[in-house]
Amino acid sequence: MTTTRSAPSPEVIAAFAATVRGDLVRAGDDAYDDARSLYNAMIDKRPALIARCVDVADVIAAVAFARDAGLPLAVRGGGHNGGGLGSVDDGLVIDLAAMNGVRVDPEARTVRVEGGATWGKVDHAAHAFGLAVPSGIISTTGVGGLTLGGGLGHLTRRYGLTIDNLLEVDVVLADGRLVTANEHEHQDLFWAVRGGGGNFGVVTSFLFRAHPIDTIVGGPTLWSLDDAADVLRWYRDFIREAPRDLNGFFAYLTVPPAPPFPEHLHRRKVCGVVWCYAGPPERADEVFAPIAAFGAPLLHGVHPMPFPALQSAFDGLYPAGHQWYWRADFFSELGDAAIAAHVHHGAQMPTMQSSMHLYPIDGAAHDVADDATPWSYRDANWAQVIVGVDPDPANAGLITEWAKRYSEALHPHSAGGAYVNMMMDEGQERVRAAYRDNYPRLARIKATYDPRNLFRVNQNIEPQG
Ligand SMILES: Cc1cc2nc3c(=O)[nH]c(=O)nc-3n(C[C@H](O)[C@H](O)[C@H](O)COP(=O)(O)OP(=O)(O)OC[C@H]3O[C@@H](n4cnc5c(N)ncnc54)[C@H](O)[C@@H]3O)c2cc1C
Repeated sequence: MTTTRSAPSPEVIAAFAATVRGDLVRAGDDAYDDARSLYNAMIDKRPALIARCVDVADVIAAVAFARDAGLPLAVRGGGHNGGGLGSVDDGLVIDLAAMNGVRVDPEARTVRVEGGATWGKVDHAAHAFGLAVPSGIISTTGVGGLTLGGGLGHLTRRYGLTIDNLLEVDVVLADGRLVTANEHEHQDLFWAVRGGGGNFGVVTSFLFRAHPIDTIVGGPTLWSLDDAADVLRWYRDFIREAPRDLNGFFAYLTVPPAPPFPEHLHRRKVCGVVWCYAGPPERADEVFAPIAAFGAPLLHGVHPMPFPALQSAFDGLYPAGHQWYWRADFFSELGDAAIAAHVHHGAQMPTMQSSMHLYPIDGAAHDVADDATPWSYRDANWAQVIVGVDPDPANAGLITEWAKRYSEALHPHSAGGAYVNMMMDEGQERVRAAYRDNYPRLARIKATYDPRNLFRVNQNIEPQG
């Protein structure tokens, strides 16, 4: 393990500041509180220094500084991590936000993205060429963390996880080298970064395969909570037989009090499915017909829209600075007992933004073998996440307790582990459960590339030779 020595002297820090082109923010600086704040305001960390890197040379210098000074090191991409793993108390944060360039190659259908970009930038740049990269469901999320942990979203059933569309990365390693990893170079490292998180170095550049996605047909179908058990049973069977062009995640949610939702539904707790149909437009009516006909929907709000419009549809509901508490698990089956637990706890959402999502992970995500990437739950059918969310810190306990109670009721029905990107900082046992049989290989690759565990503020893989 890396040992922590006494804090570096002002002279040593000044020498480091002189080697980087980006700003170095110190505790006490005017910019400090803004620079250290995380998306999840429930997490309040106080790093010693924040290096706002502007290029790869800055990243190399920052890695060397933290390593040689024995400072705890965190890497911040979009800063969205639920457990606040983009920051660290008393250490150095490498903040990649200024490294957010995106370059689309429309001929090759690839997109090169710098390590600190958010998905909104990628969506915007790619859409100009009628292309999209599979990502998540909120465009303010960082490309770095989401990709390195796997990446589940509106295009998962059609094109797989984000890592299934990753072609190459540039990584600054713990020893300061910059290497490129792909199917031909540093294959072991390339395997490890496709789900193994930020354990192996700082990814300064991602190269993605993009797909011809322009206008999709998407939006929610909402049903009364009274119908939740029937809707869940129907959804469970329907989605697994649905064409891959159709993605739909089930949700318990509260209808936001704003257009386009009709006023009579505002603030009503409901259950529903958020759809994204990315197939031939002329087939959309046929695909959606059985959905609109199921039960008595309160709203069937699907429309053609540009893909980035769906990707950013929830951004306004979830601005940075709210309290968040996450609980996650994978599920292979949704039996009657699990459905009964959902019906009970889903109805008790404590605040307007609190929610439960079941993301389908079949379709193209199932085409990839369990050991082809570290993401080991390819055989599961859903990734479940329960999120307690509220702007008011006074409600932190309320949302946490609800999420815990709900999760504890469902966990016995789960496949065992959880998606690392939807976990809090939950300890080694949960990390091992997330990677299952892939953990030993990850630990060996970690020993090769980061034997002293410099990159340990993450869902940590302990090096093992
Ligand atoms: C509102 C919201 C919606 C979300 N929706 C989805 C979704 O639809 N699908 C999904 O799969 N996930 C989703 N997530 C989860 C998300 O994938 C994780 O929170 C992820 O960690 C965020 O990445 P980030 O770069 O923003 O976070 P950060 O907090 O900056 O980083 C998270 C982790 O990744 C590491 N990291 C980040 N960038 C790099 C890099 N360039 N090099 C090395 N390490 C790096 C960090 O060190 C840290 O350990 C969502 C999260 C939020 C808050």
